[in-house]
Amino acid sequence: MKYRYCYHCGTRTVGKQIDGRLRDFCKNCQLPLYENPIPSVAVVVANQPGELLLVRRGVEPGIGEWCLPGGFIEIGETPQEAAVRELKEELGIDIQNPQLLDVGSHINGYYGDVLIIGFTLQIDDNLKIIPGDDVTEAVYFSIENRPDLVFRVHEDFLNTWLANRKNNE
Ligand SMILES: [Zn+2]
Repeated sequence: MKYRYCYHCGTRTVGKQIDGRLRDFCKNCQLPLYENPIPSVAVVVANQPGELLLVRRGVEPGIGEWCLPGGFIEIGETPQEAAVRELKEELGIDIQNPQLLDVGSHINGYYGDVLIIGFTLQIDDNLKIIPGDDVTEAVYFSIENRPDLVFRVHEDFLNTWLANRKNNE
């Protein structure tokens, strides 16, 4: 239950059981106000030898912890465009072709429920990395010596990426 006021007309909402869930309901509009997960992206970035480029978070949630680069999809963006923008903002790299990897969910977190679309990207070893918005470091790690990622779904994406890689060997 998230909306105290209707986002169409501003009327105070009431709780109403609809389709087996207690939902915010606007009596004026006669509409339930649905809540949905927020779409975001994350990218498994690896270099030619298969080292992973991870970022240390400079903001909550998980400040100071490691994760995949990524962030929320903005209005007017496709998931691919969001991934390209986030890579530019967080790593300072300008690369246009992230490949779809997997989809996952983070339920009931800092921002509520988040839907995460995972991408992969292979980059050249000599590409200059400049850590930017929301991150304090960007570092290559071998698979064996990488830190744990603060988000479960990012770990899942890494596991999918590793399994795909094994299958292609
Ligand atoms: Zn309304």
